[in-house]
Amino acid sequence: MTTEQEPVPWAALAGDAATVERYRAKIYDRGPDRCAYFLGAISSSGHGKLRAGSRKVGTSRVVTVHVLGFVIANGAQALAPGAVVRHRCDESSCQQPTHWISGERLDNIRDYYARSHRAGHALSDARGPDGRAVAIRDAILTAQATGADVEAAIATAIAAGNPSGASQDALF
Ligand SMILES: [Zn+2]
Repeated sequence: MTTEQEPVPWAALAGDAATVERYRAKIYDRGPDRCAYFLGAISSSGHGKLRAGSRKVGTSRVVTVHVLGFVIANGAQALAPGAVVRHRCDESSCQQPTHWISGERLDNIRDYYARSHRAGHALSDARGPDGRAVAIRDAILTAQATGADVEAAIATAIAAGNPSGASQDALF
């Protein structure tokens, strides 16, 4: 049985071609430096989840995808023990490597208190991070399936979390 405490073999997972392919296939890439939303499973904290690795070699497990992506982009040695991978954009499902930074859990808490009261900000979304990430993912998938404008669908999905329509200090 896999537990949260068991160390994740990040280097092995990031080096597994099938895992990398499965991960990349679930990212909606909008070009350099723009939020790249995850289109797969979303956790209660708004983070993307994916079954990575292989049962055959005993590495199979469900991982948080932005940590997997960080290791694919920067190598496992860039992930310091006890560190967390943070989102500068505050979009919990974002897979844009330039939006990630390694830090500590306390940094995330500081960010939340600094930015969650700002109208129109990702951290003040009325749906919470999971509701927001699911709404954006579903808007992209629906727009793709129906041939609708994906960027317009994303904008509508984001705006729905901010019923007042006010906005302050967007970072991206
Ligand atoms: Zn982002």
